[in-house]
Amino acid sequence: MDQQEIAEKVSADELQEITRLLVRAPSPNPPGDVRECAEVIMNVLRKEGIPAENLAATDKQRNVVAVLEGSGPGKTMWYNGHMDVVPPGADWTHDPWGAELVDGKIYGRGAADMKGGLASLIGSMFALKRAGCPFKGKIIFTAVADEETGSDNGTVWLIENKKVSADYAIVGEPSDGWVAIGNRGLIWVEVTIKGKAAHGSRPDYGINAIHHAARAITALSQMDLSARQDIFLAPTGSLSVTLVNGGTKANVIPDRCTFTLDRRMLPIETVEEATERIRQTIATVIDDGASFDLKLIKAWPPVLMEQDHPLIRTAVAAFERVHGYRPEVRGKAGSTDGSFIRGMAGIPIVLYGPGPTRLAHMADEYVELQSLVRASHVYTLTTLDLLS
Ligand SMILES: [Zn+2]
Repeated sequence: MDQQEIAEKVSADELQEITRLLVRAPSPNPPGDVRECAEVIMNVLRKEGIPAENLAATDKQRNVVAVLEGSGPGKTMWYNGHMDVVPPGADWTHDPWGAELVDGKIYGRGAADMKGGLASLIGSMFALKRAGCPFKGKIIFTAVADEETGSDNGTVWLIENKKVSADYAIVGEPSDGWVAIGNRGLIWVEVTIKGKAAHGSRPDYGINAIHHAARAITALSQMDLSARQDIFLAPTGSLSVTLVNGGTKANVIPDRCTFTLDRRMLPIETVEEATERIRQTIATVIDDGASFDLKLIKAWPPVLMEQDHPLIRTAVAAFERVHGYRPEVRGKAGSTDGSFIRGMAGIPIVLYGPGPTRLAHMADEYVELQSLVRASHVYTLTTLDLLS
């Protein structure tokens, strides 16, 4: 049996059916309850005779872990995808949980980001199992919770609790027509400016925290973030103040102002360096008795693989065999679980999956049946090459 025959041991109808079952198991985050979706995956795997565990990070946040053993010792491939989806929002012309099939497309929240990707990863395991697991080592499949809100109860939980270790990882995020070898990083930082309250008639007795925050925000918005890495779809860093909160009353000089910022980073910076730059920038404009605290709320490290890494070369070659053209190799603008798999656990990653990237988080999200089949084949061929 050649590799192509093995890959074809899962049918388009099966991939369609699994995707539709997953879309019909709503898992919006917030609140992030993925129990129903996890149960669907457990059933699908059980029917195929693939052993799986349903691990509870919290009561409602579950992580399904399944293992497919090869014919002897060897390397481990990690198939990773998230079950949670962003809430549907407005402007849908299809039922966001209906998984309607129209003209070869399945519509629904999460169809592309990324229940289609989960279905293709599961399909690849089906194909390999049906072919008698003709590889060395093993495949670990994880369907995780909590990706859309920071992964603390999902991929990060699996890594911290040592539930998974691997030599390679494929994250099935939507990337129609190209292959991603990394993603920009992200930090969320909360800044609290501390001043001194006073009567509105005597600002000279107080220290206005909002005025100081305004200066800090202006300084931050003028930071030089022009360094480029053109492999990324968004090739520079960015800084956006996204929340502001301050003051108690119209006639009271405010003693506190808190703001939160979203800082996107290229791999030329570390999380620590980016945080320190923010601290120094604020320090230059805070004076006259005001002070500030800075809290790193959450960090996704920036990650980028070498283009000639065996995982990337193999995935790109598999893509070319399946699609008939060589993919563009890029870095994603947004952060993914690849940040933790590569940035925390040190495991080589590739990000590739069915569905148009641009539809993630939008109304009338869909995934094409053809792209489910192609992704499943790319996963299978990549694994067969690397675990031989
Ligand atoms: Zn996603």
